[in-house]
Amino acid sequence: LEEKIKKPAWIKAKIPTGKKFFEIKDILRTQKMHTVCEEASCPNIGECFSYGTATFMIMGDICTRRCPFCDVGHGRPNELDKDEPKNLAESVAAMGLRYVVITSVDRDDLRDGGAQHFADCINEIRKTSPNTKIEILVPDFRGRLDIALDILAKNPPDVMNHNLETHPRLYKQARPGADYKHSLELLRRYREMMPHIPTKSGIMVGLGETDDEIREIMRDMRANNIEMITVGQYLQPSNSHLPVLRYVTPEQFKQFEKEAYAMGFTNAAIGAMVRSSYHADMQAHDVLEE
Ligand code: SF4
Ligand code: SF4
Repeated sequence: LEEKIKKPAWIKAKIPTGKKFFEIKDILRTQKMHTVCEEASCPNIGECFSYGTATFMIMGDICTRRCPFCDVGHGRPNELDKDEPKNLAESVAAMGLRYVVITSVDRDDLRDGGAQHFADCINEIRKTSPNTKIEILVPDFRGRLDIALDILAKNPPDVMNHNLETHPRLYKQARPGADYKHSLELLRRYREMMPHIPTKSGIMVGLGETDDEIREIMRDMRANNIEMITVGQYLQPSNSHLPVLRYVTPEQFKQFEKEAYAMGFTNAAIGAMVRSSYHADMQAHDVLEE
């Protein structure tokens, strides 16, 4: 039996408080929308909701992939809900969000990987909340990259995010079905097509990577013109998920942050509790023109 590494004191969720937090919870119940914030029991939920940021999961909650760090269910996905873009836009407006992150499960079953559905969501939100910034955190669109990039270039978000998650050495075990080079290519090509849209990517630490492997990923990101980076501690969602192999210390995170800026990232959100969408609005603040 593997012995679990003890959680250090700096891994702490803040207890949600504040009027806005509870208002947002209520709206989500009424609108029946899925947020990653609630479903992944994200430790930052109090902060993000109070601040007017949330991450929505579209195209259902069943994924066609099976990554052993991830808590999303897998199997045969549901039919696309044609009303979802409108419902999402209504939720964003009702919640008064300043910044919204839209993400999805992998939809390897769809011809365009779900790109048009992302585009429909962007367009509906633009109609009802023209001042809300939209970040999309997309799946890798493997086998559908050309069509997906084309659709998303015609309907651009404010920030294009796709996570590399971990070092390529660990892909087989942590990200089966994905390909490191392909993911880099997605971001590089989108930036070539849409030079004014910042690209963003993130990784988790604690899955077995070394410090130098983290630096290697950061260099690969820069070599592919990725402008924004997130690095956070992996936490095991349950005993049947990949174990945490180490907790990176706050000092080491600080060091990576320094190195990231030295490599030329315009924004580096690096720390134990950082998630891809943590304070996404502030991350984007420096790179988006008002
Ligand atoms: Fe939601 Fe992301 Fe904030 Fe977590 S970090 S609460 S997933 S917006
Ligand atoms: Fe989870 Fe994404 Fe992997 Fe699907 S592709 S299992 S949603 S990490």
